[in-house]
Amino acid sequence: MPRYHIWTIGCQMNKAESERLGSLFEQQGYRATAVAGEADIIVLNSCVVRQSAENRVTNKLHAIKALKKSNPDLVIALTGCYVNSDTAGLKKKFPHVDHFFKPGDFPEWLEEAGPGQALPLNPSPAVYVPITQGCDNFCSYCIVPYRRGRERSRPVAEIVREVAELVRRGAKEVTLLGQNVDSYGHDLPERPELADLLGELNEIDGLARLRFLTNHPKDMSSRLIEAVASLDKVCEQINLPVQAGDNDILRLMRRGYTVEHYRRLITEIRSKVPDIALSTDVIVGFPSETEEQFRHTFSLLSELRFDTVHIAAYSPRPGTIAARELADDVPAAEKARRLSEIEQLQKSIATEINARLLGETVEVLVEGRKKGKWQGRTRSDKLVFFSDNADHPGQLVNIRIDKTSPWSLQGKIEVNMTDLK
Ligand code: SF4
Repeated sequence: MPRYHIWTIGCQMNKAESERLGSLFEQQGYRATAVAGEADIIVLNSCVVRQSAENRVTNKLHAIKALKKSNPDLVIALTGCYVNSDTAGLKKKFPHVDHFFKPGDFPEWLEEAGPGQALPLNPSPAVYVPITQGCDNFCSYCIVPYRRGRERSRPVAEIVREVAELVRRGAKEVTLLGQNVDSYGHDLPERPELADLLGELNEIDGLARLRFLTNHPKDMSSRLIEAVASLDKVCEQINLPVQAGDNDILRLMRRGYTVEHYRRLITEIRSKVPDIALSTDVIVGFPSETEEQFRHTFSLLSELRFDTVHIAAYSPRPGTIAARELADDVPAAEKARRLSEIEQLQKSIATEINARLLGETVEVLVEGRKKGKWQGRTRSDKLVFFSDNADHPGQLVNIRIDKTSPWSLQGKIEVNMTDLK
């Protein structure tokens, strides 16, 4: 039986697409292998959002050259955001790679099964479902619109059918994915909004939870916030990337909103959904960012107190507006210091937020086992570990929290809630 190996780095979109590719392989009679050297076909699903990710991809591409040399029949394919429109140039650089295909495109040699067949046969309890591809925003630092193209929304009916099928196959939680889910539907004839889509999905029997990401502060609507407040399956959790807490830096980033707008949005979300868990993304060391401007970001994060902050140091991405027009003039050591300062701040905030859950009982969707413990997530997306001898994957269980840290919670099982199996 032929074997396939998929190597994936990057965002949840890449993970979702790799899962679908794997499903197509399975339906064509391939079996997965975790060992690249045993595979008949290797797919690298790449990311170039930061220089460190791009380096990992090129290292991997060089490393598998030896496998092709010892097995000339091995098929190697490259997808993800490393793949640009210059496939001839890529082929010249990596002659041992047989196929290049853009993210989200299923290659012709796999498409015979048809896109509907790409759904995993045995999905995990929590699955990702892409609802849009591409992005129209062109934030000055971001390479994604150049690689994934302009925004395309999938029709509501198609997504509803797909989610219902995933639920029929065992999924309990669905995270809707897009580079900017808040502008979902603007390119469809009926112009549905994300709030409409959530309303339809909320009706699916057997589905326990709905999430969505990534949001854009300039496009998030009051209707969407109200949908989170009123739809019982939509989890009380929102990721809303701020990127910087200084208006001049936001302007250079071409984000299309101000700090004041962002602050108002957070106030609105918290007043309509009081128990919301919020996360954000921040870039430090953007070109020309002064110490004072960095302090504005630091103060905003201290003031708004997020559950989670994803922090990155700026790295120029060739082809973007920032790489073309702005000098990468914050020294690497300074970027590292700013990053570390925010990490320390966030660690203390998350410690306090999570400590409030000590002694509380939380609902956890069990996703699997790690290091001898069951692990799952709360509706607010907190990672929870617990020990128990019974079998729990895909179940909703009640866990009484007896230990907290900034990154995760631990507890003991109380009562099995609903075994949705
Ligand atoms: S919204 Fe901005 S950061 Fe996000 S994918 Fe689009 S261009 Fe990139």
